[in-house]
Amino acid sequence: MSKSTIRTLWIAVCVVALFIAGIYAVSRTTKTTAVVLPDEPKQSELQKQYVAKGYTDEVAALLEKNYSQDSSQLLSISYTPNILDYLQQPYFRFANYDRYLEYSRKHPEYPIAQVVNRTNMYLDYDFYAHDIAVDDYSILVLANKYYRLGESYVPKDLVDIPSNLSTYAMKGRREAVAALETLISSMKSEADLTVRVTSAYRSYSYQNSLYNTYVNASGEAAADALSARPGYSEHQTGLAFDLLASGYTLENFYKTPQSQWVSENAYRFGFIIRYQEGKTDITGYSKEEWHLRYVGIDAATYITSHDLTFEEYYMMNEVNEQ
Ligand SMILES: [Zn+2]
Repeated sequence: MSKSTIRTLWIAVCVVALFIAGIYAVSRTTKTTAVVLPDEPKQSELQKQYVAKGYTDEVAALLEKNYSQDSSQLLSISYTPNILDYLQQPYFRFANYDRYLEYSRKHPEYPIAQVVNRTNMYLDYDFYAHDIAVDDYSILVLANKYYRLGESYVPKDLVDIPSNLSTYAMKGRREAVAALETLISSMKSEADLTVRVTSAYRSYSYQNSLYNTYVNASGEAAADALSARPGYSEHQTGLAFDLLASGYTLENFYKTPQSQWVSENAYRFGFIIRYQEGKTDITGYSKEEWHLRYVGIDAATYITSHDLTFEEYYMMNEVNEQ
């Protein structure tokens, strides 16, 4: 072989070697890039568990990131595609979760906020079909067609309502009666209007006989529309009062200037008009402009300014305490 042939061969060997080295380098670079590509995401064990329940990768990542405290409960409840919508509700409770889903199925017309709040208020049960025994008899006690007062419950601080303010001898809780006296005297001094209290504290046995009178006269359905069953009446709390204007029935109280004054001013004295028009599906009662409930000035102001029922206010605070 000539010298020039050897040189040419050497050059050819070098070119091939460089070519192979180049391919190797390119393939290495490509491999390195592939490691950081997003099509191989790293999922935590928790995210994998969420995905195994049926959640998408995206929801699983959000559940881990935003609800880390709730992971054990999130893993224990049944799968629903709109879990994040539920978790965003301020009064969401894991304990009620299955009932939310059931109520939502039965009432597709309600947005999730309503589903959560109404279920929290037990509205997924029929009235009188789900009893909760009341054990807190504070000024903010709730008595309705779910929250049942003890048969033997008698407020410890009952006092007489002054006879000039009532149609017959009756009692209420001390703080509420004092506030009621102030309300009535303010109505007189500010607007020259007068009312009398026509019903206040009622014992369990009195409510029992009242309710049974209605049942015997018109049957249970009609009685339920007119009167609370014994144990479920707000009058047993000693914090509820019915107001009567001279010359008018209770049902016509709403036509009086006294009713107008009460609707505008009751909160200043710690009272709310407990059963409002348009809220029957929550309270279980038709509108009763004459029925005042003492809750204290702070609660009354909040409830009135936010146009809430006492049920809603109670639910909001109950959840916040948990
Ligand atoms: Zn009443």
